[in-house]
Amino acid sequence: MRVGHGYDLHRLESCAPAGRGRPFILGGVRFDHPTGPVAHSDGDALLHAITDAILGALGMPDIGQLFPDSDAAHDGSDSAIFLREAIQRMHRARFSLGNLDCTVICESPKIGPRRAEIVAHLAELLSCDVQRINVKGKTHEKVDAVGEGRAIEVHVVALLHPVD
Ligand code: MG
Repeated sequence: MRVGHGYDLHRLESCAPAGRGRPFILGGVRFDHPTGPVAHSDGDALLHAITDAILGALGMPDIGQLFPDSDAAHDGSDSAIFLREAIQRMHRARFSLGNLDCTVICESPKIGPRRAEIVAHLAELLSCDVQRINVKGKTHEKVDAVGEGRAIEVHVVALLHPVD
């Protein structure tokens, strides 16, 4: 078996045109929220952290190496593109997903009410059962940048099984 850890953080700012924030999208699910991630791609921190957890488990280059933010081709990109590349690499290396455990930390919006939708969307992207994916939402207790609503942070642990 292989285990991988993925981490991502994006600054949150007022959505355009008031600020540089993009629409708030997490796990491919769009939230109606006044702030959003400042990012080169669509800024989906959950998909970025899952991508890095899978690539990490495979011992492969991370998302920043595969898709540099200096590449104009990925300006505003749907982050599912990055995850699909990691999934293809996982299959080529003859591994399959055991499970994902994801922790999303942000002051708002609340993740809980949209959790089932996020999990269902991730299961579809990963072609796996929803039972293999866990998503938890936490706050940062109003302290530091995350707690002040100025950033979103995501941690993901992925377990991969060899395919025989
Ligand atoms: Mg990112």
